[in-house]
Amino acid sequence: MQKLYKSAKAWLSFVLGRNPRIELTRKDYRKYIPAPYEGVVIISSDFELAWAWRYDKLNPDPINNSLVLARKERNNIPKLVELSARYNIPVTWGTVGHLFLSSCKHGVQKPHIDIERLLYFENEWWKYSSGDWFDADPCSTVEKAPEWYAPDLIKHILNSEIAHEIANHSFSHISCDDDTCTPAILESELRASQEAADSFKLKLESFIFPGHTMGNYDTLQKTGYTSMRTNFINVLGYPECHANSLWEHKTTMELSYNNLFSIKHNLSRYKVIINKCIKNHQVCNLWFHPSFEDINIEVILPEIYRFLDANRKKLWITTMKEYTNWLSIKAKNSEDTNIK
Ligand SMILES: [Zn+2]
Ligand SMILES: [Zn+2]
Repeated sequence: MQKLYKSAKAWLSFVLGRNPRIELTRKDYRKYIPAPYEGVVIISSDFELAWAWRYDKLNPDPINNSLVLARKERNNIPKLVELSARYNIPVTWGTVGHLFLSSCKHGVQKPHIDIERLLYFENEWWKYSSGDWFDADPCSTVEKAPEWYAPDLIKHILNSEIAHEIANHSFSHISCDDDTCTPAILESELRASQEAADSFKLKLESFIFPGHTMGNYDTLQKTGYTSMRTNFINVLGYPECHANSLWEHKTTMELSYNNLFSIKHNLSRYKVIINKCIKNHQVCNLWFHPSFEDINIEVILPEIYRFLDANRKKLWITTMKEYTNWLSIKAKNSEDTNIK
């Protein structure tokens, strides 16, 4: 009965355009949608292995659960890279910075001593109330502790024929909201991520907030980031340029099989959103956790990627960095035209 109520509620908020919230089509939509396309689609992913769930307060054994999810994610990523290649769909991989490393050492006192620590905190999902933030770090190598390091998977993504983007998801999956995180903490996390990414000759320019914890926008902009992905609510609409020139891409919907509905209905929900994106001339940001259930890799993603590919003439399917570059050039050109 409760399931019936939940599915009816979810169905209704979808049909009424509340989840995702459907914005009105803007008259100046060509500032956001390059001709000849009718809509823009960005697929992003939270690539984190064991780092994301270690302070999960709803799980009685979060570290063990983190290891289980990390192994699942390791197993899934090559399949996801293959799916992207099959349908020519690039993904923006929001990567935890520690995963660039092939090893790390404990040091005299603590691991990663150059990184400033968050104070203890609790939010809706996490509770960090004892020990050191890096206590779970095995200070080992990718061979011995593959749940905490992933240079092999990053190389695998970069070696694909698809131009994926490697974005930042903080170095150690911190909470980034202004109440918990100071600019100095985020700066040290961003620095550590970039230093680790240097060995791959990557410049990290897009930021995906960990665990729905948004904040410190000025620190991102000052450190050279051009855009961020937020998920306050699900939105089908347009990106927003903040006063500091940082672009905000708002999530539209998570790609994850919802067991309240049949597979057929799950697929039709995503297709309705993509069709609305085309019809309304909007931007659709779909995202996923690569540790998700098998049904997503076997059925949901292949069908959604196939559908996107079939609509390729109408949709610009791109990455956060590429799209943000286009937006910035477009905004600058229209400013110049206005001045003239
Ligand atoms: Zn480490
Ligand atoms: Zn995450």
